[in-house]
Amino acid sequence: MAGNQQPEVNIGLVGHVDHGKTTLVQALSGSWTDQHSEEMKRGISIRLGYADATFRQCPGVDEPECYTVEEECPDGSESEPLRTVSFVDAPGHETLMATMLSGASLMDGAVLVVSANEPVPQPQTEEHLMALDLIGIDNIVIAQNKVDLVDGETARSNYEQIQEFVEGTVAEDAPVVPVSAGQDVNMDLLIGAIEEEIPTPDPDPDADARLHVARSFDINKPGTTFGDLAGGVLGGSLVAGELEIEDDLEVKPGREVEEGGQSEYVPIETTIRSLQAGGENVDTVTPGGLLGVGTGLDPSLTKGDALAGQMAGPPGSLPPTWEQFTMDVDLLERVVGVDGGETVDEISTGEPLMMTVGTSTTVGAVTSAREGECEVKLKRPVCADPGAKIAINRRIGARWRLIGLGTLTE
Ligand code: GDP
Ligand code: MG
Repeated sequence: MAGNQQPEVNIGLVGHVDHGKTTLVQALSGSWTDQHSEEMKRGISIRLGYADATFRQCPGVDEPECYTVEEECPDGSESEPLRTVSFVDAPGHETLMATMLSGASLMDGAVLVVSANEPVPQPQTEEHLMALDLIGIDNIVIAQNKVDLVDGETARSNYEQIQEFVEGTVAEDAPVVPVSAGQDVNMDLLIGAIEEEIPTPDPDPDADARLHVARSFDINKPGTTFGDLAGGVLGGSLVAGELEIEDDLEVKPGREVEEGGQSEYVPIETTIRSLQAGGENVDTVTPGGLLGVGTGLDPSLTKGDALAGQMAGPPGSLPPTWEQFTMDVDLLERVVGVDGGETVDEISTGEPLMMTVGTSTTVGAVTSAREGECEVKLKRPVCADPGAKIAINRRIGARWRLIGLGTLTE
């Protein structure tokens, strides 16, 4: 793939299943995000997939035709790199809202993919837009995909349905770009709209490094002898600061230890041994994209996503670990993504909730509920700043449904 720049902005791909998110990422990046065998088998992205794309510009060519991902321009000249972006391909399958939301905490903006050949909105189109609205992601571009499958009149009526649907939401002013990801049509227009609407966030040069751990691995083959063991690897997204090889790192909440029948989480400390960004080994990393952080940790600690959902940064700099907390609650008016859209009842004392905080998803029981506020006790603690946003899900029928947004107060 062209360009070895580290990605500088994370863009989520959201929208209903089969509307073309993965195809669009593929058209823009040349890589396939459904790369894990489990996903291949099930045909959906269970884990958040990441793919980087370098947007480029052909010199001396007007907008939008100048925008491309190819290194060679139609006239044979070489294109100039603008920036590298990282796409987070959020799964559209209806039971995976939590994964989509944990990705949302890492998104600087989003492309909402809407198929031109189906009525608007489909259930997850609505559900995902509500999630963006709740979390406050307002740098949005709407890709009206599969325009190759419809005639002009259908495309226009679908466009109007989209406009009507986003009215009054965070996507109200988002441009709607007709594209065909499958046929590579209007990708230049789409890149132009992304360049315009989803700017690279300004990094704070003085901020401490904050790594949201989305995955963790043991990269050793079975049977590797002790002396040859590589340390545990963290995969995640740096949301602030800078990481460098040899830096000390604290991971919170850390690992669970049992003592006298009581379990407790203890922060882990380690040192960074290697860094990977944009598919390359590097010495330092800054925010943007998915990073691989090789550590000195015992790989049994990082195996099988054991540290997913945790936070890492310089020792002593991380926010508190919470086993219970109080949150201000903003409930949705009605449950989205279901036919009929029943109204959302107030949260009641004793009920179980599933909460996504940063990249962490945890179940908790409500120990006390008042209007607009509740206190929860968590099964698994989370490391988070006061003020952190929390996606709140309630079990309705057979699955967890998004019912509102919390703000951690204390
Ligand atoms: P996702 O579930 O949103 O990731 O959707 P996929 O990218 O997996 O696409 C679903 C199906 O739609 C696949 O069979 C794609 O080949 C097809 N598809 C995606 N984009 C287009 C398009 O622009 N035109 C047509 N005709 N088919 C498309
Ligand atoms: Mg997909």
